Amino acid sequence: GRGGSPSAPGTEHGAGQAAEQAAQGACMAECHLPSLQVDRFLHQLRLSDDVLQDVAARFQAEMLKGLARDTNPTAAVKMLPSFVRSLPDGSEKGEFLAVDLGGSQLRAHRVRVSDDGKQSSQLESKFYPTPKEVTQGNGAELFDYIADCLSDFMDTRNLKQKKVPLGFTFSFPCKQTKLDEGVLLEWTKHFRVRGVQGTDVVSSLHRALQKHQDIDVDVLALVNDTVGTMMTCGYDDPRCEVGLIIGTGTNACYMEEMRHISLVEGDEGRMCINTEWGAFGDDGALDDLRTEFDRELDLGSLNPGKQLFEKMISSLYLGELVRLILLKMTKEGLLFNGKVSAALLTKGKIEMKHVSAMEKYKEGLSNTREILTELKLFPSEEDCVAVQHVCTIVSFRSANLCAATLAAILTRLRDNKKLLRMRTTVGIDGGLYKTHPRYAQRLHKVLRRLVPTCDVRFVLSRSGSGRGAAMVTAVALRLAAQRRRLDAALAPFLLPPSTLQQVRDSMRAELEYGLKREAQGQATVKMLPTYVRGMPDGTEKGKFLALDLGGTNFRVLLVKIKSGRRRSVQMYNKIFAIPLEIMQGTGEELFDHIVQCIADFLDYMGIKGARLPLGFTFSFPCRQTSIDKGTLVGWTKGFKATDCEGEDVVDMLREAIRRRNEFDLDIVAVVNDTVGTMMTCGYEDPNCEIGLIAGTGTNVCYMEDMKNIETVEGNEGKMCINTEWGAFGDNGCIDHIRTKYDREVDEGSLNPGKQRYEKMTSGMYLGEIVREILIDLTKQGLLFRGHISESLRKRGIFETKFLSQIESDRLALLQVRRVLQHLGLDSTCEDSIIVKEVCAAVSTRAARLCGAGLAAVLEKRRQDRGVERLQITVGVDGTLYKLHPHFSRILQETVKELAPQCDVTFMLSEDGSGKGAALITAVAKRLHNGDPEHLSDL
Ligand code: ADP
Ligand code: MG
Repeated sequence: GRGGSPSAPGTEHGAGQAAEQAAQGACMAECHLPSLQVDRFLHQLRLSDDVLQDVAARFQAEMLKGLARDTNPTAAVKMLPSFVRSLPDGSEKGEFLAVDLGGSQLRAHRVRVSDDGKQSSQLESKFYPTPKEVTQGNGAELFDYIADCLSDFMDTRNLKQKKVPLGFTFSFPCKQTKLDEGVLLEWTKHFRVRGVQGTDVVSSLHRALQKHQDIDVDVLALVNDTVGTMMTCGYDDPRCEVGLIIGTGTNACYMEEMRHISLVEGDEGRMCINTEWGAFGDDGALDDLRTEFDRELDLGSLNPGKQLFEKMISSLYLGELVRLILLKMTKEGLLFNGKVSAALLTKGKIEMKHVSAMEKYKEGLSNTREILTELKLFPSEEDCVAVQHVCTIVSFRSANLCAATLAAILTRLRDNKKLLRMRTTVGIDGGLYKTHPRYAQRLHKVLRRLVPTCDVRFVLSRSGSGRGAAMVTAVALRLAAQRRRLDAALAPFLLPPSTLQQVRDSMRAELEYGLKREAQGQATVKMLPTYVRGMPDGTEKGKFLALDLGGTNFRVLLVKIKSGRRRSVQMYNKIFAIPLEIMQGTGEELFDHIVQCIADFLDYMGIKGARLPLGFTFSFPCRQTSIDKGTLVGWTKGFKATDCEGEDVVDMLREAIRRRNEFDLDIVAVVNDTVGTMMTCGYEDPNCEIGLIAGTGTNVCYMEDMKNIETVEGNEGKMCINTEWGAFGDNGCIDHIRTKYDREVDEGSLNPGKQRYEKMTSGMYLGEIVREILIDLTKQGLLFRGHISESLRKRGIFETKFLSQIESDRLALLQVRRVLQHLGLDSTCEDSIIVKEVCAAVSTRAARLCGAGLAAVLEKRRQDRGVERLQITVGVDGTLYKLHPHFSRILQETVKELAPQCDVTFMLSEDGSGKGAALITAVAKRLHNGDPEHLSDL
């Protein structure tokens, strides 16, 4: 009665293929009777794509539940952190042991991983039986047995005299708190050993191994087989980030973002999560999809009510499901003329290997006949076709369900990466997937339909659970070695409090020395008098021009100051670029360019004929003899124009104006930007007596008692001192804390040997220090796979603003990677973590050094004033201080530590260089017009 059925054996299609199509519901009408009957009988096992999408959505929800701290305790899917944070990078090497418990046999392996560039791992294995006494006996015996097997294995491989690291593949749900510790939550599959649940299996193995005096094994990692599978495939394919097992049991792991794993401290990077998805449905989430057969199978299992998803999927159960279905169909008279055999009534008589054989492409039907005959069932031709169809439906459901949960994981990975499309690799292992004639193909096909946005490559793991454990161990050893070297490289940046105190004290000594008459010309911290003697009092008014030269930008400003009740400052400014060739050309060219910019600005504002008073913010060390005279001591930062050092900058500006012969200006004051900053803040807060810059460069000014300033006549009142502390250390006094990276940055700079403190603390250099460290770490093979890219060689590519971006707490590692990518640095996740650490080390040291310097100034002021506590305001400007996510906080904390008796208010200056120059000019102008009480010497 097969009629014209396309499934007749011997035709092109073959029975299996027809059954396949029937199972997909593609050709119901054409299918012959037995299949139709089976279809009707088993319609509940046939899951449409809609249902599978729904299963995927349910599993997504389960994953979230397992990941969150508050819902994890009641979650069915445990989402266990594996403490595996990195995939192999190919540089692993050494000889490792692995022992693998959880499959059908106990396996011992020796794995040799080479780093000779060929990237290969050699595996030698020996299998040991796991009889029922072992899988269902007591714990001590189990671990003794494992230790005995290992000892035997080491004996056969001549490993007894060596110390070998071991990875322990233990494929049961374990709660890990570190890589080498794991408490068994529950036995699964066919294992049920007494006294192990709730205990740490690593220490149990360790104890058993210690009884063997003749071997020396260090258990370094506890590894789930899914994780081992992922790691093994990850060794060959760096894209691998999922491990999947479909064998005796089923389970999957994947790399999850640390910030989503609330059970483990830390937000950086990723960690492999062992989903333990076999338990999906244990809370009833799949009850609507489970059939009477699933329920019956569960009741007869070793662990009723547990691992319900696994029981619909894995090879340990599929044969039994088929048996239960056949039994029921026979009892209902649909098969074998209703005659049940004793064998069919016996639990476990149909195994996975039988199901696979029956579904074979060509011999399937004859296999079926043989198998059924073996079971004493006397099948007709139709019975055979029907039984084959049952097998197909059962194994197809398994592949469908697996595809659904895998789709959920892939979707999650894709969402984590914020990608619309994703390419990824799944490492896969397990007998069902590997040996069933159609399973793999079905799984792939359904998966493609369920997640069309993921291009998935499946890589079969070559004995993944054993090799993988060795790989986890190898990676752990590599990471530990890398960590030691990274710590060593960054250690010099961790300045302990005692060192910072020393820095504060040397700074204090240099400040004092710079004020001495005999020090002039020799002091490294020059302590330049500014001839600014007091703060604005609010009566300043008028229109002023200001120039701001000395940073990233050159600006010309028009400042309108109103006094009295309508007290306010209005500013108009224009930014002009100073091309590198002018910054480093001749002095005349530089000043001609400046005057050109002023002319543009005056035109732009329509005030060319006004002859306004001008304040010139010139942020380089100048030796002043009055408020409008300043001789350049030496260029700093990026400037190096010729014929300027030793010249009066106001004269140079006046001459350039004269050369142009187009307009005239009344140059009233030359102002350092620190002083401008202090004045701007002082305009708002009379307590502001210190100005700090942390931008391209670093510098501080403060109000000093005239009696302490030996270089200026007079002992009354105060004068602002521009410390020029950037040069601190130029005499070698902080050389002991400078690193080789600092020396490299210095040697590559425009002014080698100069501004040593500035080069450790300011925006122009921090990125360069980072770059030098990255080069060194790459040379050591700790970064970028040991490859120094062209862009990393480029001086200046690593701007300080990238430090700010990378160190921002809100930025996920993925974005750090984007920043690096933007710089032409192709980084892995681990690279990004290291780069971020390097940035933090460099910026933290900068902030702490700067804080130590400031503490010296504060303490000096406190002691000079003779007060127990000093209340003072520090005006601050500079983009490093303002925009770096941690610099200002760390600086302030350091000041608290090192100057505990000073209560400091930090006040951000708004455009100190512009506004401050105008304020100083205003006061100077007012004094010039006959008010000798105030600010200047004029
Ligand atoms: P100045 O050049 O007058 O010091 P800024 O105070 O604006 O001007 O400082 C500019 C410097 O700040 C740049 O040279 C750069 O080193 C640094 N910088 C720029 N952007 C950032 C940022 N986002 N975070 C930290 N530092 C930055
Ligand atoms: Mg500035």
